[in-house]
Amino acid sequence: MNKKDTIDFIKDLLAKKSKNSLSIKLLLAIGILVLIGSGFFWYMVIIRGEREFLNYSVSYYSGFTEMIEKTLETNMMKNDQKTIQNVIEKVGSGSTADLVNLNVYSHPEGYIKFSSHKEKINQTVQSTSSACLPCHKEKTTELTTKWFTEDKKTGKFIVFTLPIKNRPACYTAACHAHPKEKKLIGILEARYSLERLDKTMKDQKIFTLIAGVIFTIFFCVTLCIVLWKIIIKPLYILADGMQRVSKGDLDHRIEINTKDEMGMLARAFNSMTKELKSSRQKLENWAKELEREVAKKTEEIRKGQEQLIHTEKLASLGRMAAGVAHELNSPLTGIVTFAHLMLQRIPPENKMDREDLEVIIEQAERCSKIIKGLLGFSRALPAEKTEININSVISHTLDMVRNQAKFHNIKLHTKLTPNLPNIVGDASQLEQVFMNLLINAADAMNDRGSITIATRVVNVDGTDYVEVEFTDTGPGIPDEYMDRLFEPFFTTKPPGKGTGLGLSVSHGIVKKHGGHIRVHSTPGKGTSFFIRLPIPKKENSQNE
Ligand code: ADP
Repeated sequence: MNKKDTIDFIKDLLAKKSKNSLSIKLLLAIGILVLIGSGFFWYMVIIRGEREFLNYSVSYYSGFTEMIEKTLETNMMKNDQKTIQNVIEKVGSGSTADLVNLNVYSHPEGYIKFSSHKEKINQTVQSTSSACLPCHKEKTTELTTKWFTEDKKTGKFIVFTLPIKNRPACYTAACHAHPKEKKLIGILEARYSLERLDKTMKDQKIFTLIAGVIFTIFFCVTLCIVLWKIIIKPLYILADGMQRVSKGDLDHRIEINTKDEMGMLARAFNSMTKELKSSRQKLENWAKELEREVAKKTEEIRKGQEQLIHTEKLASLGRMAAGVAHELNSPLTGIVTFAHLMLQRIPPENKMDREDLEVIIEQAERCSKIIKGLLGFSRALPAEKTEININSVISHTLDMVRNQAKFHNIKLHTKLTPNLPNIVGDASQLEQVFMNLLINAADAMNDRGSITIATRVVNVDGTDYVEVEFTDTGPGIPDEYMDRLFEPFFTTKPPGKGTGLGLSVSHGIVKKHGGHIRVHSTPGKGTSFFIRLPIPKKENSQNE
């Protein structure tokens, strides 16, 4: 993600997407946690600081008070009351260590014996006064230094009460001021102002607060940067990648090369995209394959339909042809018969009449031939089906053509498969088919060239056929004629030579035998006709 993307992303965050953004939620949650955590931490730091300060002040003031008591004790031994008052006045004037008030109470009489404020001397106090209360309230006989804080209108103070004990030096002193049984002879009360301490603590609080805020800001900023680098930015790259892939850009790769979970996610995403791409490729290939298959099947159906129409056309044409042929056959036979009779009666010297009659006979016979063709085409001639061997039928047909002048310059090759299974069919009709193919080949080669006749057994879709192939070395058939070859009356031969019925009749005969005929031609090289005739199942099993 470059600089521009980063800026776009931040703009996105701050604009419409901000309230739903995971990054903002994450930052807010962590930010709040950091604030609460650091607030608690700094609060504890401040509280602890305050306590430490107070403890330190207590030990400092208590030490100072004890030091005063030691000084006073020395003077008390000397019973030097003037010096005692002087020391108390000087020390308790407020100039030293925040000490604002210093009193010495006489015990158990309960009046102020010495005081830094002279006017208080000889004032009697109650047992509830600040100097007496700590011991009287707790009803303790333990003679220890006690302290407490006071919060008055004039300010905050810390008050220390120190017991002045009746030591052996006291009751054995020359003045004998106190009897031996007396344990406590007085209380030293020292009052210190906490104003300075308060100010220091306040400064400390402000400092701690500022440090805390700076630390929290620094922490938050660092956290934001770290979060941005390791989570938010990779997430944005991932989301962007997913969007691109969903829009079809399957070549897009996510460039996160870290070894952490984000890197793993990116690698998994990249390999998923790769898989997706290859699957899509496969799907596209399948779709293309399907399209091809559909086109192929459509073409097959179209051809089938054409074939059907063609067959129907042939059938109606056949019926019509059969009717016409039948009607013409008898008169033609009559013409030929009577023409022959007339020819016998005409003397040989009357050449002209004889020639005319011969033309009549020739033309009538030609008509008869056409009619026979028509009858064959219309299947008007009944088929006599028996078990026949195709090799024998071919041999018989070749024997017939070999004697014809038309085939004298044509080489006839045979490649007949021995032991060919028999088929069931009409030998004479099949002879007619083979003869027709041989004549067509000879015509195409202008009676010069070679014809190869081969037989074999083929299996197509689980059915065995005897296949007969007629291949010539003629000029071949132009592509534009290929579709019309089996149409009745289609011929390329000159008028009077071809009838255009040979192939359509052959087609009809082969169909009637349950077989089919197809042609393969290479213009300039030659033509091959293939006839397939089914081998009956019984025949099959016999040969197995
Ligand atoms: P016809 O032989 O009377 O023309 P056919 O139906 O037998 O009628 O043949 C139709 C046409 O097919 C022929 O006119 C010829 O153009 C073509 N043909 C058939 N066999 C061959 C072949 N072996 N070589 C080239 N053309 C052929």
